[in-house]
Amino acid sequence: MFIQPRGHSSASEAGEDRLVVCDCETLGLCVRALAPFAAGEVLDRFNGEVSADLLQHSLQVSPGMHVHDTRFVGYLSHGCEPNCRLDMERFELVALSDIDAGEVLAIDYAATEDVLYRQFACHCAAQHCRAWITGRAENANEEGRRFLDGQAKPLKS
Ligand SMILES: [Zn+2]
Repeated sequence: MFIQPRGHSSASEAGEDRLVVCDCETLGLCVRALAPFAAGEVLDRFNGEVSADLLQHSLQVSPGMHVHDTRFVGYLSHGCEPNCRLDMERFELVALSDIDAGEVLAIDYAATEDVLYRQFACHCAAQHCRAWITGRAENANEEGRRFLDGQAKPLKS
């Protein structure tokens, strides 16, 4: 199922000139704003191919269905207190806070994904960082449990 024709150019494809995918040394692939955005503003209206395949850069649109081959949103970083969110009914990327030009865009992966392609340790600086990131419908895998056990150990032993 294809949401919109590819290469379709219209004013509604908001992200076109205002977002960029970067390959950063620390983050790997990430998306940066090229212009400032206000909280509540739509940064991008995305499209892509929807299928049952859970891929590294896919995003869940409904249980068991994932959009992939997106221009920007598949490369968003995770943050436990993110500056963006995805609206999976409107296919929009929305700013949760004011965003400066050059800022890295982050969403909470667990907000859309039941199961992640790959669980991982999070080093975002958020006060309530969850430390190990899973989908919202899955528990930490063995690596994650070991990681969290290690973190929970008292500093003095
Ligand atoms: Zn975090």
